[in-house]
Formats: sequence, C-alpha cells, structure tokens
Amino acid sequence: MLGKTFMQKTTRSFGSRAVPKQTQLFIDGQWCNSVKGGTFETIDPFTEEPITQVQRASREDVDKAVLAARIAFDHGPWRRMSATDRGNLLYRLGELVEKNAEELAYLEALDNGKPVSVAKAADLPLTWNTYKYYGGWANKITGDTIPAPGNFHAYTRREPVGVAAQIIPWNFPLLMQAWKLGPALAAGCTVVMKTAEQTPLSALKIAELIKEAGFPDGVVNILSGFGEDAGAYLSTHSDVDKVAFTGSTAVGLQIMRNSSLGGLKRVTLELGGKSANIICEDADVDMAVQQSHLGLFFNQGQCCIAGSRLFVHDKIYDEFAEKSAKFASEAKLGDSQDAATTQGPQVSKEQQDTVWGYIEKGKKEGATLLAGGEKYDGKGYFVKPTVFADVQDDMTIAKEEIFGPVMQIMKFSDYDDVIDRANRSEYGLGAGVVTKDIGRAFHLTNGLRAGTVYVNCYDVFDPTLPFGGYKNSGIGRENGPQGLDNYLETKTVIMSRPDGSLP
Ligand code: NAD
Repeated sequence: MLGKTFMQKTTRSFGSRAVPKQTQLFIDGQWCNSVKGGTFETIDPFTEEPITQVQRASREDVDKAVLAARIAFDHGPWRRMSATDRGNLLYRLGELVEKNAEELAYLEALDNGKPVSVAKAADLPLTWNTYKYYGGWANKITGDTIPAPGNFHAYTRREPVGVAAQIIPWNFPLLMQAWKLGPALAAGCTVVMKTAEQTPLSALKIAELIKEAGFPDGVVNILSGFGEDAGAYLSTHSDVDKVAFTGSTAVGLQIMRNSSLGGLKRVTLELGGKSANIICEDADVDMAVQQSHLGLFFNQGQCCIAGSRLFVHDKIYDEFAEKSAKFASEAKLGDSQDAATTQGPQVSKEQQDTVWGYIEKGKKEGATLLAGGEKYDGKGYFVKPTVFADVQDDMTIAKEEIFGPVMQIMKFSDYDDVIDRANRSEYGLGAGVVTKDIGRAFHLTNGLRAGTVYVNCYDVFDPTLPFGGYKNSGIGRENGPQGLDNYLETKTVIMSRPDGSLP
C-alpha cells in the first residue's frame, strides 16, 4: 500500500501503518523537545490506538518560537531577500509537497481519519497548488503612486505585518496550514503556527519540507500543542503582530478578546457555519441529491462550510428526501487507509460523542429520522450517515453547527421567505442554490448573507477563490489576492518635490 522508500524512511511500523518520523517541535529551523519535556499521544481514529507521542509545546516553547520569528523578521536574511526569491521558495515548497504526496496523504488519513483516497484527490492537490499560487503572488505585491496636491510626490508600499501567530484546526490539517502559510510567506511575514492537538503529524512533515526547500531559519516555526495553554498564550504574546485563527466561533471570540491583551494585533478569523443549501422546484432531483450529499457528508461532515440546513421546495420534497436517505445509506464506512472507504471515522471520541448528542436531540425534538441514527458499536469513532427530514427552524439541529455526517431537510415554498429563513442564523460562511432558472439563481445568491454561494455545485475550493464568513463566521478572507491583505500593512510615503519639477 505504501511506497517502499517511504517505509524505509520511517522508524517502525505496526500492521500496515508506518510510524511518522517527525514528532518534535520545529523552532528556528531546528527540531527540539519541549522545554518542560511534555508530550502527548496522537490517536488513530480508526484503530483507536495511539500512533505516537508528540512533543507538547508549553509557554516557554512559544516564547522561544516567537523570539526566533521576531529575529528572523527584524534581522534575518528573509527581509533582505528579493520578492522573486521568496516566491521561488514557496513554489519549491509546493513542488516538494507534490513529490511527497503519498506520504503526506498517508499521514493525513492516519491522524485525521479521512479516507486516504480523498486526501490524495482533494487535500494534497489543493495544498501544493496553494503554495504555488502564493509563490506566484510574492513579486506582484505592489503599491500605488498618488497624484498628491502641492509640491509632493506620494506613493504607497505594501509591507509585511511582521510576526504572524497562526492557529489551525484538525479537519483539513494540511490545507489549513497552506491557507495560512502561503499568503503570510508571500507577504514576507515570519510565522509561529500552532497546529491542532488532534492532528499534529502532517504539519511536521511540512516543516521538514520547509527546511529542505531552503527557507531561512526562524521564518516558519511549527508547534504541536493544546489550545488552552500554547494557543491561548501565543494569541496574547506581545511580540506577535498578527493573529490568524481558524476554528470554532467560541474560541474565535476568545482569541479576539485575548489578542488585545499584549497590545493591538491585527486579527483574522475563519470560524464555524450552518450553511443553507436551497433546492428549488425546477432542480434535477438526482443532481441535487448528489450535490447536497457532497455538501454535507464530505470529510465526514467535518467541514466548516457544510450545507447542513437543506431547504427543499415542497413540490420535490418527498422525492428528494427519499433519494437522499438512500444515497446516505450507500456510504462505505471503513479504514481510512483502504481505497474503497468513502467515509472514515470522526476525528476523535469527543467529536463522535458530540455528534451523537445532536442525533439524540434531533430525535427528541421530533425530526423524522430517514437514515442512520443508530449508534455505531464497532471499533473506530464512526457515526453512521444520518438524514433527518421535517426539521423545523427552531430545532437545535437546525441552529447549531454539528460538524458531523447529519443532514437536516427542511421544507419551503416561497423564495423570499426562504432567503429570510436562511439568513436567520448567527453564521454566514456559505450557502448553496440548485436551480435551472438563472433569474432565481441571481435573486437567491444576492439575497443570501454568506461569504461563498455555490450555484449548482458545492465544496468547490481553489487557492484563487476567496473564502471566509459574514457575521459570526469570521473576519477577513483567505485565498485569492484578498488572502494577502491579512498579512500586509500599507505605508504611505510623501516626498517634497524640488520646486519647478513637473507634477
Ligand atoms: P477549536 O476552536 O476547538 O480549535 C481550533 C484550534 O484552536 C486548535 O488548534 C486548538 O488547539 C486551538 N485553541 C483552542 N482553544 C484555544 C484558545 N483558548 N486560544 C487559542 N487557541 C485555542 O475548533 P476545532 O473543533 O478544532 O475545529 C472545528 C471548528 O473549526 C468548527 O467550528 C469549524 O467550523 C471551524 N472551521 C472553520 C473553517 C473556516 O475556514 N471558516 C475551516 C475549518 C474549520
């Protein structure tokens, strides 16, 4: 199953699973143990067995990493490097990710539980393309010349914000890392990144590739560790200029407060969602079932943009609900390393329990269970794909982010009313519309308050496409040129011109 060279590089193997090589902290270009000697286990969600022990960053390690990033920013070769060379390093990193795709996909599936086939087809190409895309941007970051009045010449420079603290979640570890590192490095920032405690492994392999690509020491520092200590401390650190966070809205709000403690920092947040997906009466029902299934069940339902409030027009409601339940029951649950698996386990026991709690609430609050809904009692943190119909707007499962494979089908009949219902949510990350009527598509997409609206598709991601949320789903956009703005300051330079020179 695994390439021979990859198996040779690893230290030992259990069953068909090789143990990853890198488990230390990556600070100032070096691998090191935690100052206090703390470690934690990372668990394979399919076997429920520990994969390995990983070094656990403490506040002291955060201090070391921030100092390394500070020095690299203020005094290192990084700031003197040309933008073209900086871009070439990022592009080289993208190439190395592509070259090491097999091992990275294996690690991603091992640590997160997602099917390795999905990691190979989706997570990996998106990751290497993100590094290459932002590599291309590095030497295209430009300011303006401004026709200032009077005897002045004025222009702007776009300059890096400085040291960026980046905190990422576990659902797409490699991709979330790339969405953060790509624009920060293209802009010329230095970085201290804390990965999610559930999925530290693939990010450490990326650290190895960062070294191989030739980034100067201290430009990227990667810490494995927990949110309540390393993460919270990093987000308050007075030597950090900017905090970029992806995760839950509850923690995002905390970060917003904490980040102002050690002085004013720039903050961008990519948070939770409860996205509405609207299936209109003219939709091709089979296609709509397929799109909405992808939009909800992709990545075991652990997608911030999951289309988890499915509004279906009453003229096609019954057919849609029946076909949707059948589609969900065809998922192949299994080992994340097995190519035939279409749905892996949830990332952790905690997530499995949380999702199960929502299923119980759905039943209790009177939604009609059409598929799944029973507890999975085998090994692995699985949740059977579950479909609820007759869901009402005020039910818990219609309001809260479940972050698991649980679909809520709701009925509508009026298009203005469905816009109001879709917008009646604290979130505004994504939305979907399935229709053949272009006028209806414009009406709905313009009315929906969400950062991304998919029409006749779902879960299309690309580094060129800005991504982020309205309302409690976040502040700022990742990807596209907008992603760079998060890591840039604008400096205005005004020069007095010699008398008599042309304006
Ligand atoms: P989480 O908020 O619990 O954790 C995310 C990260 O924050 C982890 O690295 C964690 O260690 C760290 N963290 C936790 N508490 C912290 C604190 N007090 N201070 C600093 N850091 C802290 O979220 P999660 O459960 O890991 O991820 C799932 C959530 O992420 C969902 O709500 C999902 O919608 C959201 N998400 C959003 C996007 C997006 O782009 N909008 C993408 C992926 C995931």
